[in-house]
Amino acid sequence: MNLEFSPEEIAFRDEVRTFIRDNYPKELMGLGNREDLTREQFLAWHKILGKKGWSAPAWPKKYGGTGWTSTQRYIWSEENARVDAMMPLPFGVSMVGPVIYTFGDEEQKARHLPGILAGDVWWAQGYSEPGAGSDLASLKTTAVRDGDHYILNGQKTWTTLAQHADWGFFLCRTDPSAKAQEGISFILVDMKTPGIEVRPIKLIDGTHEVNETWLTDVRVPVENLVGKENEGWTYAKFLLAHERSGIAGVARSKRGVERLRSIASQETMDGTPLIRTDEFARKISQLEIDLTALEFTELRTLASEAAGKGPGPESSILKIKGTEIQQRLTELTLEAVGNYGAPYARGMDNFGVNEVGVGPDYSNFSADNYFNMRKTSIYGGSNEIQRNIISKMILGL
Ligand SMILES: Cc1cc2nc3c(=O)[nH]c(=O)nc-3n(C[C@H](O)[C@H](O)[C@H](O)COP(=O)(O)OP(=O)(O)OC[C@H]3O[C@@H](n4cnc5c(N)ncnc54)[C@H](O)[C@@H]3O)c2cc1C
Repeated sequence: MNLEFSPEEIAFRDEVRTFIRDNYPKELMGLGNREDLTREQFLAWHKILGKKGWSAPAWPKKYGGTGWTSTQRYIWSEENARVDAMMPLPFGVSMVGPVIYTFGDEEQKARHLPGILAGDVWWAQGYSEPGAGSDLASLKTTAVRDGDHYILNGQKTWTTLAQHADWGFFLCRTDPSAKAQEGISFILVDMKTPGIEVRPIKLIDGTHEVNETWLTDVRVPVENLVGKENEGWTYAKFLLAHERSGIAGVARSKRGVERLRSIASQETMDGTPLIRTDEFARKISQLEIDLTALEFTELRTLASEAAGKGPGPESSILKIKGTEIQQRLTELTLEAVGNYGAPYARGMDNFGVNEVGVGPDYSNFSADNYFNMRKTSIYGGSNEIQRNIISKMILGL
């Protein structure tokens, strides 16, 4: 694989870098994708990218994608990660959007794709239930046909940021007598419909990132069914492969390693910068080696996507390795800042806060991030389940 950029690719990188420098909202600089931001903050960069036509680079051009090559998309992620830019949330752009343009009808495409591209409409993912996470096909939420409506009843859980959502995509059982995977439908639901209640769940770091979503006699027009009734499992799996490949977060982890190196040069052990101690230097090097291997795997996946193959079971490899690296990064950062990691500092860098942190600025979120990132090996299908997929679909065991 040739990783030298061509002159055209270098020109593209410069164009992207300049655009980000001139247009990324200054007040969001350095905040990254945080869970405690306002709806407007979350959507600010997405809206700017929507106007530019750059909010969904992976989409086919005819639906509003950029038509970039896999290398250009790689450059795009790298350049955004360089400034820790807050990327468009995955629920619209990476999840339901591809389902709608692949399996939806023309009316659904015309109605929903523009709002996703523009960052005007916020989507939530209604898959998991209290008794249906890894074993998703055992879901119990029902959608019963009543004339030209479905009536939805049930409880979804872990619905990320549903407190901001305008629309949700829900997996519902439409044929209770069929085999588990065969009686499920994929339904788009306006979150303002009467009968929907979103209740917060607080995570271990104190943030309101996930919710329970209760559905009681929610009337949804039949035209909101995507594809065919009882064939939702196929669309659900297609979506999960897209969700997983986006989780790898290579560019952002590379930036995290740079930050870790900088912290480890400033923090000391017995007067020696951590980065110069054998043990810590070895830990960082091991992390970088794994990250480089993951980067090549992601590039191979991007190249095969560019050749027309959608993300397949190899997205499970990206999910496992990407999330393990993200977790190790936060572990090593916490280790590097030592006692400064102990104070609870959530909110320290919010606008208007004038308190001074206990340790250096870089230590403020180290514990919060460490705790928050425990989620990554669970969401998007737990890493144990991804190993099952690899053993069956890739190794043929
Ligand atoms: C922060 C966060 C955000 C999320 N956001 C959303 C969202 O927006 N929308 C949504 O629908 N869902 C969301 N989820 C749900 C997520 O997809 C599920 O948590 C995940 O699929 C695991 O399901 P579960 O929590 O029910 O655990 P379970 O399925 O009960 O699993 C418990 C443990 O058993 C292991 N296990 C289960 N079955 C097997 C097996 N066959 N082989 C080996 N090990 C097994 C699992 O790996 C896990 O360690 C989110 C989860 C988190 C943590």
